[in-house]
Amino acid sequence: MLVLKNVRIVSESEISELQDVVVNAGKYEAVGAGLAVPEGARVVDAAGKLMMPTMFDTHVHFREPGQTHKEDIASGSEAAINGGVTGIVMMPNTNPSIDSAAIVKSLLDKAKEVARINVYTSGCVSKDRAGKELAEIHGMKEAGVLMLTDDGDTVDDPALYKNAMEYATPFGMFFASHCETPSLSGPRAMNEGKKSYELGIEGSPAISEEICMDRDIRLAHAAGAHLHIQHVSSGIGAKTIEFWKGMGARVTAEVCPHHLIFNEEDIGNFDTNFKMNPPLRTAADNEQLLEGLKNGIFDIISTDHAPHTHYEKTSVDFISAPNGITGLETALVSLYHEFVAKGKLDWPLIVNKFSAEPRRLMQLPPVPIKQGGVAEFLLFDEKSTTTYSEEFFKSKSINSPYINQTLNGEIQMVVLGEEILLELGL
Ligand SMILES: [Zn+2]
Repeated sequence: MLVLKNVRIVSESEISELQDVVVNAGKYEAVGAGLAVPEGARVVDAAGKLMMPTMFDTHVHFREPGQTHKEDIASGSEAAINGGVTGIVMMPNTNPSIDSAAIVKSLLDKAKEVARINVYTSGCVSKDRAGKELAEIHGMKEAGVLMLTDDGDTVDDPALYKNAMEYATPFGMFFASHCETPSLSGPRAMNEGKKSYELGIEGSPAISEEICMDRDIRLAHAAGAHLHIQHVSSGIGAKTIEFWKGMGARVTAEVCPHHLIFNEEDIGNFDTNFKMNPPLRTAADNEQLLEGLKNGIFDIISTDHAPHTHYEKTSVDFISAPNGITGLETALVSLYHEFVAKGKLDWPLIVNKFSAEPRRLMQLPPVPIKQGGVAEFLLFDEKSTTTYSEEFFKSKSINSPYINQTLNGEIQMVVLGEEILLELGL
């Protein structure tokens, strides 16, 4: 039995006054002010700390099967815990792709063995993400996939995509789009703009993403499907979603911390820890995306956690280096450091967008801290700091823009059910 004393609890709507929380057998037995400590319980003095439901990340690349030198389900899950995340959805652009019931089953079985968090997976729209024929959609649904996406690439053929939507919507599947118009994207190295001209690199303009986004939402609207837009990077992208929400389309959308925080200027002298797809755009886009998060255009925050080895990221030129950065271990602390601590976002919004809404999107229940609920929480200390040294990272890869930096805020405890997954300095 665990008792947290004098903690402030963050919900989707507020931060409470000081409370005590009794956790017993993986559940919240009691929540209230000045509770008596049951005999034999461990007491944690949580004065000055925040307790909140753990985060849920709908967009991670665990690279299994096929590229487990970058990450695997075990290491990715430990990275998630390090970042206060206890539920994730894997992307299917693995090798082989997650496009059949057999692969889904084998990965979910593996996850039960090696992961200390809740691991879910998406499945491909098209076989091997090749855009030529439909993946084994119904079988994957039966095996437990939560969402269909060809993430990493767009579904290029609108007829195939519409067909998939009309086929799978009646049995409850929904779709997620990585939006890109390949012929406009060049070598997919960086945003087309001031910085790409300065560096002499062919850029990928925001319209590459925006045109495809508009197309995909139109397809979904026509097919009566629910479409989720992944990793929106531009202000006009946000406006596109706002427009279609206003039209009554069944569209949801996510924004990633890196697109909120960084822009093309951060690439500096070809730093591949700022290279991802869609690319970092401009300071104006940062502002418009943040505005979109506050005014409800974006339903959720996700990380697009994309591990690549140091060698892969640094042994070739900028254009050839793989796209993506890790995000699971830095997302929550960076959102605090960049926005909450500066008064630009508040904690209830973070819990809403990064904990409750992602679970609802996946048709899972949120995990609020209330009597009778399953214990799935983290403790956050705003006055402490986190140093992202190489040793800090549990991911197999350290391709993070925060490498060797110290940010304000620290996750000091992560609990899932009866297990304390992480504990620091308590
Ligand atoms: Zn993507």
